[in-house]
Amino acid sequence: MRVGILGGGQLGRMLALAGYPLGVRCTVLDPSEASCAAQVCAHIRGDFDDFQALYKLVQESDVVTYEFENVPIETARWLAERVPVFPPPRALEVSQDRLVEKAFLQSLGIPMPPFAAIETHAEYATAIRVIGFPAVLKTRRFGYDGKGQVVIRSLTDAAAAWEKLGGRPLILEGFVSFDRELSSIAVRSRSGEVVCYPLIENEHHDGILHRSLAPAADTGEELTERAYEYTSRILKELDYVGVLTVEWFQDGPRLLANEMAPRVHNSGHWTIEGSQTSQFENHLRAICGWPLGTPIAVGCSAMFNYIGEVPATEDVLKLPNAHLHSYGKAHRPGRKVGHVTYRAGTYDELVTMLTSPSIARTVSTP
Ligand code: AMP
Repeated sequence: MRVGILGGGQLGRMLALAGYPLGVRCTVLDPSEASCAAQVCAHIRGDFDDFQALYKLVQESDVVTYEFENVPIETARWLAERVPVFPPPRALEVSQDRLVEKAFLQSLGIPMPPFAAIETHAEYATAIRVIGFPAVLKTRRFGYDGKGQVVIRSLTDAAAAWEKLGGRPLILEGFVSFDRELSSIAVRSRSGEVVCYPLIENEHHDGILHRSLAPAADTGEELTERAYEYTSRILKELDYVGVLTVEWFQDGPRLLANEMAPRVHNSGHWTIEGSQTSQFENHLRAICGWPLGTPIAVGCSAMFNYIGEVPATEDVLKLPNAHLHSYGKAHRPGRKVGHVTYRAGTYDELVTMLTSPSIARTVSTP
Protein backbone atom coordinates (compact mmCIF):
# COMPACT_ATOMS: atom_id res chain seq x y z
CA MET A 1 0.00 0.00 0.00
CA ARG A 2 1.29 3.48 -0.90
CA VAL A 3 0.29 6.39 1.34
CA GLY A 4 0.78 10.04 0.39
CA ILE A 5 1.07 12.49 3.28
CA LEU A 6 0.58 16.23 2.97
CA GLY A 7 3.13 17.72 5.35
CA GLY A 8 6.55 16.38 6.27
CA GLY A 9 6.93 17.20 9.96
CA GLN A 10 7.25 14.85 12.93
CA LEU A 11 3.70 13.53 12.58
CA GLY A 12 4.42 12.50 8.99
CA ARG A 13 7.69 10.98 10.14
CA MET A 14 6.00 8.90 12.86
CA LEU A 15 3.29 7.80 10.39
CA ALA A 16 5.97 6.65 7.96
CA LEU A 17 7.84 4.79 10.72
CA ALA A 18 4.61 3.03 11.79
CA GLY A 19 4.02 2.06 8.17
CA TYR A 20 7.32 0.20 7.70
CA PRO A 21 6.39 -3.07 9.47
CA LEU A 22 3.05 -3.14 7.63
CA GLY A 23 4.72 -2.78 4.24
CA VAL A 24 3.23 0.69 3.79
CA ARG A 25 5.36 2.95 1.63
CA CYS A 26 4.89 6.62 2.50
CA THR A 27 5.66 9.69 0.40
CA VAL A 28 5.44 13.13 1.97
CA LEU A 29 4.77 16.33 0.10
CA ASP A 30 6.48 19.24 1.83
CA PRO A 31 8.03 22.50 0.61
CA SER A 32 11.04 22.25 2.90
CA GLU A 33 14.30 20.57 1.98
CA ALA A 34 14.74 19.99 5.72
CA SER A 35 11.48 18.04 6.17
CA CYS A 36 12.16 15.66 9.07
CA ALA A 37 9.78 13.03 7.63
CA ALA A 38 11.87 13.00 4.46
CA GLN A 39 14.70 11.40 6.47
CA VAL A 40 12.63 8.20 6.72
CA CYS A 41 10.49 8.09 3.57
CA ALA A 42 10.17 9.43 0.03
CA HIS A 43 9.80 13.18 -0.38
CA ILE A 44 8.23 15.29 -3.10
CA ARG A 45 9.43 18.83 -2.62
CA GLY A 46 6.68 21.32 -3.40
CA ASP A 47 4.12 23.74 -2.03
CA PHE A 48 0.65 22.59 -1.13
CA ASP A 49 -0.76 24.50 -4.11
CA ASP A 50 1.87 23.29 -6.58
CA PHE A 51 -0.29 21.14 -8.85
CA GLN A 52 2.64 19.53 -10.60
CA ALA A 53 3.91 18.29 -7.25
CA LEU A 54 0.40 17.25 -6.24
CA TYR A 55 0.04 15.32 -9.47
CA LYS A 56 3.26 13.45 -8.65
CA LEU A 57 1.87 12.64 -5.20
CA VAL A 58 -1.30 11.20 -6.79
CA GLN A 59 0.86 8.95 -8.98
CA GLU A 60 2.79 7.73 -5.92
CA SER A 61 -0.26 7.11 -3.69
CA ASP A 62 -3.14 4.64 -3.29
CA VAL A 63 -4.56 6.89 -0.57
CA VAL A 64 -3.65 10.39 0.66
CA THR A 65 -3.78 11.78 4.19
CA TYR A 66 -2.46 14.91 5.90
CA GLU A 67 -0.53 15.66 9.06
CA PHE A 68 -1.61 19.26 9.64
CA GLU A 69 -4.86 21.13 9.20
CA ASN A 70 -3.74 24.10 7.16
CA VAL A 71 -3.59 22.25 3.85
CA PRO A 72 -5.54 24.46 1.39
CA ILE A 73 -9.04 23.02 1.09
CA GLU A 74 -8.89 23.36 -2.73
CA THR A 75 -5.85 21.06 -2.67
CA ALA A 76 -7.66 18.43 -0.59
CA ARG A 77 -10.69 18.56 -2.90
CA TRP A 78 -8.55 18.41 -6.06
CA LEU A 79 -6.75 15.36 -4.68
CA ALA A 80 -10.02 13.72 -3.59
CA GLU A 81 -11.21 13.77 -7.22
CA ARG A 82 -8.17 11.65 -8.16
CA VAL A 83 -7.38 9.42 -5.17
CA PRO A 84 -9.14 8.61 -1.86
CA VAL A 85 -8.32 11.34 0.71
CA PHE A 86 -8.84 10.53 4.40
CA PRO A 87 -9.89 12.06 6.74
CA PRO A 88 -12.50 13.56 4.40
CA PRO A 89 -11.76 17.12 3.17
CA ARG A 90 -14.84 18.40 5.00
CA ALA A 91 -13.13 17.57 8.32
CA LEU A 92 -10.24 19.74 7.20
CA GLU A 93 -12.56 22.56 6.21
CA VAL A 94 -14.35 22.48 9.58
CA SER A 95 -11.16 22.47 11.63
CA GLN A 96 -9.37 25.22 9.70
CA ASP A 97 -11.54 28.01 11.03
CA ARG A 98 -12.34 28.23 14.74
CA LEU A 99 -15.72 29.86 14.04
CA VAL A 100 -16.81 27.19 11.55
CA GLU A 101 -15.57 24.52 13.97
CA LYS A 102 -17.48 25.96 16.91
CA ALA A 103 -20.68 26.30 14.87
CA PHE A 104 -20.24 22.68 13.75
CA LEU A 105 -19.70 21.36 17.29
CA GLN A 106 -22.62 23.45 18.53
CA SER A 107 -24.87 21.98 15.81
CA LEU A 108 -24.06 18.53 17.23
CA GLY A 109 -25.03 19.63 20.76
CA ILE A 110 -21.45 19.43 22.09
CA PRO A 111 -20.88 21.86 24.99
CA MET A 112 -18.14 24.50 24.70
CA PRO A 113 -17.09 27.82 26.25
CA PRO A 114 -19.18 30.89 25.25
CA PHE A 115 -17.82 32.63 22.16
CA ALA A 116 -18.49 35.52 19.80
CA ALA A 117 -17.31 36.19 16.25
CA ILE A 118 -15.48 39.50 15.72
CA GLU A 119 -14.45 41.42 12.63
CA THR A 120 -14.71 45.08 13.69
CA HIS A 121 -13.75 47.03 16.79
CA ALA A 122 -17.44 47.70 17.51
CA GLU A 123 -18.11 43.92 17.49
CA TYR A 124 -15.12 43.49 19.83
CA ALA A 125 -16.59 45.96 22.33
CA THR A 126 -19.97 44.18 22.20
CA ALA A 127 -18.33 40.76 22.60
CA ILE A 128 -16.41 41.95 25.69
CA ARG A 129 -19.68 43.16 27.23
CA VAL A 130 -21.37 39.81 26.54
CA ILE A 131 -18.51 37.41 27.39
CA GLY A 132 -16.87 39.49 30.17
CA PHE A 133 -13.38 39.04 31.66
CA PRO A 134 -11.31 36.95 31.71
CA ALA A 135 -11.56 35.96 28.06
CA VAL A 136 -9.30 34.72 25.27
CA LEU A 137 -9.02 36.53 21.95
CA LYS A 138 -8.08 34.10 19.16
CA THR A 139 -7.49 34.35 15.42
CA ARG A 140 -10.00 32.26 13.50
CA ARG A 141 -7.36 30.73 11.26
CA PHE A 142 -3.74 29.54 11.45
CA GLY A 143 -3.53 29.42 15.24
CA TYR A 144 -1.57 26.54 16.77
CA ASP A 145 0.43 25.82 19.93
CA GLY A 146 -1.04 28.91 21.61
CA LYS A 147 0.00 31.18 18.71
CA GLY A 148 -2.55 33.77 17.57
CA GLN A 149 -4.24 34.06 20.95
CA VAL A 150 -4.12 36.40 23.94
CA VAL A 151 -5.75 36.12 27.38
CA ILE A 152 -7.43 39.36 28.41
CA ARG A 153 -8.30 40.19 32.00
CA SER A 154 -8.91 43.95 31.81
CA LEU A 155 -9.72 46.79 29.40
CA THR A 156 -5.99 47.56 29.19
CA ASP A 157 -5.31 43.95 28.14
CA ALA A 158 -8.20 44.19 25.68
CA ALA A 159 -6.67 47.22 23.96
CA ALA A 160 -3.23 45.55 23.76
CA ALA A 161 -4.78 42.33 22.40
CA TRP A 162 -6.59 44.31 19.68
CA GLU A 163 -3.31 46.02 18.76
CA LYS A 164 -1.75 42.60 18.33
CA LEU A 165 -4.51 40.63 16.60
CA GLY A 166 -7.05 43.20 15.28
CA GLY A 167 -7.70 43.46 11.54
CA ARG A 168 -8.18 39.72 11.09
CA PRO A 169 -11.31 37.61 11.63
CA LEU A 170 -11.26 36.72 15.35
CA ILE A 171 -13.28 35.08 18.06
CA LEU A 172 -13.56 36.05 21.70
CA GLU A 173 -13.98 33.07 23.98
CA GLY A 174 -14.84 32.88 27.68
CA PHE A 175 -11.79 31.88 29.76
CA VAL A 176 -12.40 28.51 31.41
CA SER A 177 -10.93 28.00 34.90
CA PHE A 178 -10.64 24.33 34.12
CA ASP A 179 -9.57 21.66 36.61
CA ARG A 180 -7.62 19.99 33.85
CA GLU A 181 -7.34 19.49 30.11
CA LEU A 182 -8.18 16.16 28.53
CA SER A 183 -8.15 14.79 25.02
CA SER A 184 -10.02 11.96 23.37
CA ILE A 185 -8.49 10.11 20.46
CA ALA A 186 -10.76 7.90 18.38
CA VAL A 187 -10.21 6.06 15.10
CA ARG A 188 -12.83 5.17 12.51
CA SER A 189 -12.16 2.68 9.72
CA ARG A 190 -13.42 2.78 6.14
CA SER A 191 -16.07 0.21 7.13
CA GLY A 192 -17.30 2.35 10.05
CA GLU A 193 -15.61 0.43 12.90
CA VAL A 194 -14.63 2.77 15.77
CA VAL A 195 -12.02 2.30 18.52
CA CYS A 196 -11.21 4.79 21.28
CA TYR A 197 -8.02 5.27 23.29
CA PRO A 198 -8.34 5.95 27.03
CA LEU A 199 -8.82 9.63 27.90
CA ILE A 200 -5.55 11.54 28.15
CA GLU A 201 -4.69 14.30 30.63
CA ASN A 202 -2.68 17.16 29.12
CA GLU A 203 -0.71 20.00 30.63
CA HIS A 204 0.24 22.99 28.48
CA HIS A 205 2.94 25.59 29.12
CA ASP A 206 2.58 28.87 27.22
CA GLY A 207 -0.05 27.25 24.98
CA ILE A 208 2.27 24.37 23.97
CA LEU A 209 1.66 20.82 25.12
CA HIS A 210 4.19 19.99 27.83
CA ARG A 211 3.02 16.65 29.21
CA SER A 212 0.39 13.98 28.53
CA LEU A 213 -0.57 11.32 31.06
CA ALA A 214 -2.46 8.27 29.90
CA PRO A 215 -4.80 6.84 30.88
CA ALA A 216 -5.91 10.03 32.67
CA ALA A 217 -6.48 9.35 36.37
CA ASP A 218 -9.92 9.47 38.02
CA THR A 219 -11.95 10.07 34.89
CA GLY A 220 -14.73 7.67 35.85
CA GLU A 221 -16.90 5.79 33.42
CA GLU A 222 -19.48 8.51 32.98
CA LEU A 223 -17.03 11.23 31.92
CA THR A 224 -15.19 8.86 29.56
CA GLU A 225 -18.43 7.71 27.98
CA ARG A 226 -19.61 11.29 27.56
CA ALA A 227 -16.35 12.33 25.88
CA TYR A 228 -16.57 9.42 23.45
CA GLU A 229 -20.25 9.86 22.81
CA TYR A 230 -19.53 13.47 21.73
CA THR A 231 -16.51 12.33 19.68
CA SER A 232 -18.64 9.67 17.97
CA ARG A 233 -21.16 12.32 16.92
CA ILE A 234 -18.35 14.10 15.04
CA LEU A 235 -17.10 10.88 13.44
CA LYS A 236 -20.57 9.98 12.24
CA GLU A 237 -21.52 13.43 10.98
CA LEU A 238 -18.32 13.71 8.91
CA ASP A 239 -18.39 10.07 7.74
CA TYR A 240 -14.88 10.19 9.12
CA VAL A 241 -11.98 7.86 8.39
CA GLY A 242 -8.72 7.97 10.38
CA VAL A 243 -7.67 9.35 13.76
CA LEU A 244 -9.70 12.21 15.22
CA THR A 245 -8.61 14.11 18.33
CA VAL A 246 -10.83 16.34 20.46
CA GLU A 247 -9.36 18.54 23.19
CA TRP A 248 -11.51 19.17 26.26
CA PHE A 249 -11.61 21.38 29.33
CA GLN A 250 -12.86 19.57 32.43
CA ASP A 251 -14.48 22.01 34.83
CA GLY A 252 -15.99 20.03 37.72
CA PRO A 253 -18.52 17.70 36.13
CA ARG A 254 -18.58 19.78 32.92
CA LEU A 255 -16.77 18.76 29.78
CA LEU A 256 -16.31 21.62 27.29
CA ALA A 257 -14.85 21.15 23.81
CA ASN A 258 -11.82 23.33 23.08
CA GLU A 259 -10.97 22.18 19.57
CA MET A 260 -10.75 19.20 17.27
CA ALA A 261 -7.86 18.01 15.11
CA PRO A 262 -8.56 15.74 12.10
CA ARG A 263 -5.23 13.94 12.41
CA VAL A 264 -2.85 12.09 14.66
CA HIS A 265 -2.08 14.27 17.65
CA ASN A 266 0.76 15.21 19.97
CA SER A 267 -1.31 14.05 22.97
CA GLY A 268 -1.32 10.56 21.41
CA HIS A 269 2.45 10.08 21.10
CA TRP A 270 2.44 7.93 24.24
CA THR A 271 0.49 5.28 22.27
CA ILE A 272 3.71 4.24 20.46
CA GLU A 273 4.98 2.44 23.58
CA GLY A 274 1.95 2.77 25.86
CA SER A 275 -0.82 1.02 23.96
CA GLN A 276 -1.37 -2.19 22.03
CA THR A 277 -1.59 -0.26 18.75
CA SER A 278 -0.19 3.22 18.25
CA GLN A 279 -2.30 6.09 16.93
CA PHE A 280 0.00 6.19 13.89
CA GLU A 281 -0.50 2.53 13.03
CA ASN A 282 -4.25 2.81 13.61
CA HIS A 283 -4.48 5.87 11.38
CA LEU A 284 -2.75 3.93 8.59
CA ARG A 285 -4.91 0.86 9.20
CA ALA A 286 -8.03 3.05 8.97
CA ILE A 287 -7.15 4.92 5.78
CA CYS A 288 -5.82 1.78 4.06
CA GLY A 289 -9.13 0.00 4.69
CA TRP A 290 -7.67 -2.54 7.12
CA PRO A 291 -9.08 -3.76 10.47
CA LEU A 292 -8.22 -1.50 13.40
CA GLY A 293 -5.87 -2.53 16.21
CA THR A 294 -6.82 -2.58 19.87
CA PRO A 295 -6.26 0.81 21.54
CA ILE A 296 -5.92 -0.64 25.05
CA ALA A 297 -3.20 0.98 27.20
CA VAL A 298 -0.30 -1.14 28.41
CA GLY A 299 0.26 0.17 31.94
CA CYS A 300 0.48 3.95 32.43
CA SER A 301 2.49 6.40 30.36
CA ALA A 302 3.74 9.96 30.59
CA MET A 303 4.91 11.77 27.47
CA PHE A 304 6.95 14.97 27.69
CA ASN A 305 7.68 17.18 24.71
CA TYR A 306 11.17 18.48 24.15
CA ILE A 307 10.80 22.08 23.05
CA GLY A 308 13.79 23.86 21.51
CA GLU A 309 16.30 21.08 22.20
CA VAL A 310 16.57 17.39 22.94
CA PRO A 311 18.81 16.47 25.91
CA ALA A 312 21.93 14.40 25.24
CA THR A 313 20.81 10.93 24.09
CA GLU A 314 22.83 9.09 26.77
CA ASP A 315 21.29 11.24 29.53
CA VAL A 316 17.79 10.10 28.54
CA LEU A 317 18.62 6.49 27.69
CA LYS A 318 20.26 5.81 31.03
CA LEU A 319 16.88 6.37 32.73
CA PRO A 320 14.73 3.30 33.29
CA ASN A 321 11.69 2.96 31.02
CA ALA A 322 12.51 6.06 28.99
CA HIS A 323 11.62 5.92 25.29
CA LEU A 324 13.33 8.69 23.37
CA HIS A 325 12.08 10.15 20.11
CA SER A 326 14.33 12.70 18.46
CA TYR A 327 12.75 14.12 15.33
CA GLY A 328 15.95 15.00 13.46
CA LYS A 329 14.94 18.68 13.36
CA ALA A 330 17.27 21.64 13.83
CA HIS A 331 17.10 22.86 17.42
CA ARG A 332 15.36 26.23 17.72
CA PRO A 333 13.58 27.90 20.67
CA GLY A 334 9.85 27.16 20.82
CA ARG A 335 10.05 24.30 18.30
CA LYS A 336 8.89 20.74 19.05
CA VAL A 337 12.06 18.74 18.38
CA GLY A 338 11.42 15.48 20.20
CA HIS A 339 9.63 13.75 23.04
CA VAL A 340 10.18 11.10 25.68
CA THR A 341 7.67 8.59 26.98
CA TYR A 342 8.04 6.96 30.39
CA ARG A 343 5.99 3.83 30.94
CA ALA A 344 5.20 2.06 34.21
CA GLY A 345 2.96 -0.79 35.29
CA THR A 346 0.61 1.33 37.40
CA TYR A 347 -0.25 4.98 37.95
CA ASP A 348 1.47 5.00 41.38
CA GLU A 349 4.64 3.51 39.90
CA LEU A 350 4.57 6.16 37.20
CA VAL A 351 4.22 9.00 39.71
CA THR A 352 7.10 7.61 41.79
CA MET A 353 9.22 7.32 38.65
CA LEU A 354 8.47 10.88 37.51
CA THR A 355 9.31 12.41 40.87
CA SER A 356 12.74 10.78 41.00
CA PRO A 357 15.36 13.56 40.66
CA SER A 358 17.06 11.93 37.66
CA ILE A 359 13.87 11.97 35.60
CA ALA A 360 12.62 15.32 36.86
CA ARG A 361 15.85 16.87 35.49
CA THR A 362 15.21 15.60 31.94
CA VAL A 363 11.71 16.93 31.52
CA SER A 364 12.43 20.63 31.97
CA THR A 365 9.51 21.57 34.20
CA PRO A 366 9.75 25.36 34.46
P1 AMP B 1 -5.76 26.24 21.61
O1 AMP B 1 -4.77 26.65 20.58
O2 AMP B 1 -7.10 26.86 21.44
O3 AMP B 1 -5.83 24.76 21.83
O4 AMP B 1 -5.18 26.82 23.00
C1 AMP B 1 -3.95 26.41 23.55
C2 AMP B 1 -4.07 26.33 25.06
O5 AMP B 1 -4.45 27.61 25.59
C3 AMP B 1 -5.17 25.38 25.54
O6 AMP B 1 -4.73 24.03 25.54
C4 AMP B 1 -5.41 25.92 26.93
O7 AMP B 1 -4.37 25.54 27.83
C5 AMP B 1 -5.32 27.43 26.71
N1 AMP B 1 -6.68 27.95 26.38
C6 AMP B 1 -7.21 28.10 25.14
N2 AMP B 1 -8.48 28.55 25.21
C7 AMP B 1 -8.77 28.70 26.52
C8 AMP B 1 -9.93 29.11 27.24
N3 AMP B 1 -11.06 29.49 26.62
N4 AMP B 1 -9.88 29.10 28.60
C9 AMP B 1 -8.75 28.74 29.24
N5 AMP B 1 -7.61 28.35 28.63
C10 AMP B 1 -7.61 28.32 27.27
